[in-house]
Amino acid sequence: CFCKLKGQIGDCSCNVDTVDYFNNIKIYPRLQSLINKDYFRFYKVNLKKECPFWSDDSRCAMKFCHVKPCKDEEIPPGLKGRILKHPYSNEEMYVKYLEESQHQDCDSDVIDELGYLNTTISAKAYEEFALWQAYDDAQDNFCTLPDDDGDAQYVDLSLNPERYTGYRGPSAHRIWRSIYMENCFRPKNTFDAYISTSKLNGLCLEKRVFYRVVSGLHASINIHLCSHYLFPETLSFDGKGEGGRWGRNLAEFKNRFGPETTKGEGPSWLRNLYFLYLLELRAIHKAAPYLSSIDYYTGREVEDKETLDAIIDILTIIRSFPEHFNESTMFNGGSQAQKLKEEFKQHFRNISRIMDCVGCEKCKLWGKLQVQGLGTALKILFSGKFDEKNGYPNTIEKMPYNGNGKEFKLERSEIVALFNALGRISTSIFEIENFRQMMR
Ligand code: FAD
Repeated sequence: CFCKLKGQIGDCSCNVDTVDYFNNIKIYPRLQSLINKDYFRFYKVNLKKECPFWSDDSRCAMKFCHVKPCKDEEIPPGLKGRILKHPYSNEEMYVKYLEESQHQDCDSDVIDELGYLNTTISAKAYEEFALWQAYDDAQDNFCTLPDDDGDAQYVDLSLNPERYTGYRGPSAHRIWRSIYMENCFRPKNTFDAYISTSKLNGLCLEKRVFYRVVSGLHASINIHLCSHYLFPETLSFDGKGEGGRWGRNLAEFKNRFGPETTKGEGPSWLRNLYFLYLLELRAIHKAAPYLSSIDYYTGREVEDKETLDAIIDILTIIRSFPEHFNESTMFNGGSQAQKLKEEFKQHFRNISRIMDCVGCEKCKLWGKLQVQGLGTALKILFSGKFDEKNGYPNTIEKMPYNGNGKEFKLERSEIVALFNALGRISTSIFEIENFRQMMR
C-alpha cells in the first residue's frame, strides 16, 4: 500500500511507525475526548470578514458549506462576556509591578523615594504600555490577531464537523495556488505553483519546513473529505436532497494520494502530514508547564475540573513521546536568520488572511482554526530570547518573551485552536490506518 510509509520522516529523526503507534493508541483517543469538552468545543470566529486580496466570492450556496452559529443560551456561561483572565495578563503584570515597587519602599529612604517615583510613572505610562504591548503581541504572532470583533460568533465545532462539502473548482484552486505560489518560499527558477518533492532539497531548512507544514495541512484537509464523504448515489429521493450516506471513500483517497494519479507526489504529501504532526506535538510539549497552569474556565465547575485533568493526562503522555521535532536548528544564524524569521512570519500571516477568501463557510471555519492552531504552535516554538549556544528556550514557563521583559501568554482562542488543530492532524493519521486496512 502506498500509504504504508516507511522509515524516517524528513527533517526529523522520528520514524513513521513510531508516530502511527503513539498517535493511534495513545494520543488520538485522549485528544478526541479532550476536544469534546466545552472549553474546546466553542470557538469564536468571524466568518464574514472581507477578503483582503480579491473581491469575495464566498456567498456559498452549497448546502454542506453552511455553518450553524450558537444561540446565546447554548454558549457556556463562563465564555459569555467574561474578560478572560490568563495567568500572565497585562493587568496582573501591572499589579505585580506595583506590589514590587511598594515592597521596595520599605528598604530605605532613598528607595522609598524611587519607589514612589516608579509607581507614579508607571501609573501614567500604563495606558501607553498597554498600547505598545498590543502592538508587540501582534508582531510576535505568526497569525493575524484572533477574531474578537462585532461579527465574531461562537460556533460549536462538534455540530459543524470538517467533512466533504463539494467545495472545489476555480475558487478552491485559487486559494491553494495563492498559498503555494505567492506565500511559500520557492526554489530558484521554479514557476509551478506546486513544488515537486525532488526540488525541496534545494531550499534551506526553514523554507522547507514552511512548505512542508502547508502541504501537511492540505493533505489533512483532503483526507478528511475522503473519510467523511457523501455518497450521492445513496441519496434518498425525498425531493429535498436529504438523506444519503456519509462514509470513507477509498477510491477518492487513492485518487488524491496514490503515486499513479499524483505523479508520484502523494506519499510525500502524506509524509508532510506526519511532519506537521511532530511540529505541533513538540509545541504542546514545550508549552506544557504553561498549559497546565491555565484554569480552562467555562463556568461549569465539574466540567472545568475534568478538562484540567484531561489536559494533565494528555500532557504527561506527550512528554513521554521519544523523538520530538527539534526547533533549535531553525533561525539560528545571526542577523540573516532573524530576517528570515521575519519573512517566515510575514508569509504565514498572509496565509491566515487568505483564509478569509475561502468560498465555503465550513471550509473557512476549519481552515481558519487550523491555520490559527499552527500559527500558535510556531509562536510557542520560536518565542523567548534566542541564545547562540542553546537556541530558543527549551520550555515555556514564566518565560520572558522575546527578551523584552514581557511574559508569554496565549489567548483562549489560540489554546482552543492549538488543540483542535492537533486533533485534526491526529485524526488524519488515524484515518490513514483505516484506509490501509480497507486496501488490505
Ligand atoms: P486540490 O486539493 O484543490 O489541490 C490542487 C493541487 O495542489 C493538486 O492538483 C496538486 O497538484 C496539489 N496538491 C494537492 N495536495 C497537495 C499536498 N498535500 N501538498 C502539496 N500539493 C498538493 N473540501 C471539502 O470537501 N471539505 C472541506 O472541509 C474543505 N476544506 C477546504 C479548506 C481550504 C482552506 C481550501 C482551500 C479548500 C478546502 N476544500 C474542502 C477543498 C479541497 O481542499 C480541494 O481543493 C477540492 O476538493 C478540489 O480538489 P482537487 O483534486 O482539485 O485538488
